[in-house]
Amino acid sequence: MFLGHFAVGFGAKRFAPRTSLVVLLAAPLLSDLLWPVFLLLGWETVRVDPGRTKVTALDFVNYPWSHSLLLCVVWAALFAGGYYAMTRYRAGGIAIALGVPSHWLLDWIAHAPDLPLYPNGPKFGLGLWNSVAGTIVVELALFTIGVWLYCSATRARDRIGRYGFLAYIALLVASFLRNFFSSELPHSVKAEIAWPGLIAGIVMLSWAWWFDRHRQATALAQ
Ligand SMILES: [Zn+2]
Repeated sequence: MFLGHFAVGFGAKRFAPRTSLVVLLAAPLLSDLLWPVFLLLGWETVRVDPGRTKVTALDFVNYPWSHSLLLCVVWAALFAGGYYAMTRYRAGGIAIALGVPSHWLLDWIAHAPDLPLYPNGPKFGLGLWNSVAGTIVVELALFTIGVWLYCSATRARDRIGRYGFLAYIALLVASFLRNFFSSELPHSVKAEIAWPGLIAGIVMLSWAWWFDRHRQATALAQ
C-alpha cells in the first residue's frame, strides 16, 4: 500500500486540525519509515522475487519490528503518548494512536500473506496486489477521500500553501502510477531500496511540514 497510508494522514487533519500534517502523516507511514532503517541495520530482510505479486517484485521475508501488528501497537503507544505529553492535544494523540496501526490494516489488504501478527507469529495478507486494476482503484479511491478531507479542513494562506500542496499530490500520484509502467528490478537492497526509501521519507515529510504551515484551518475544522 502506498497512497492509502498518505490518505489516512491527510484525512486525519479534519479530525485533528491543530496537529501538523507532518505528524499526521508520520503516524500511518511510520512502519515504512522504520523499515529502511531496520533493513540497513540488518534487523529485517527483503528479497527481490519477480512475480511475487503483480504489483511488486519484493518478497518481504522478515519485518517483525516495523510491520507486525504487535509492534505497530507499541510504536503507536509511544508516539501518541509522547505527542500527548508534549502538546496535551487529545485529538492529535488519538489520530496518532489510530494512524500508526492503520498501516498494518491497509498493508494487510494489499500484501501477500507476509504481515506477522507478532514477531515469529502467523502471517496475514489478502493480496490485493495480485490485481493491478484493483490496486489502482482502491489506492486512488482512498487517496481521493483523504485529500478531500484535508482540503475541507484547511485552505491555502499563500502560494506555497496552494502550489506546494498541489505539487506534492501530483508527485505522489505520479510515483504511484510510475510503478506500473516500470519493469526495472532493484539489485541491491541497501543501495536501491533502503537508502532511497529513507531519503524519500525524509523529503516527503519535510515537504508536508512546509506547505502545511502555509495553510490554515477552515471554519469546518475548528
Ligand atoms: Zn508497509
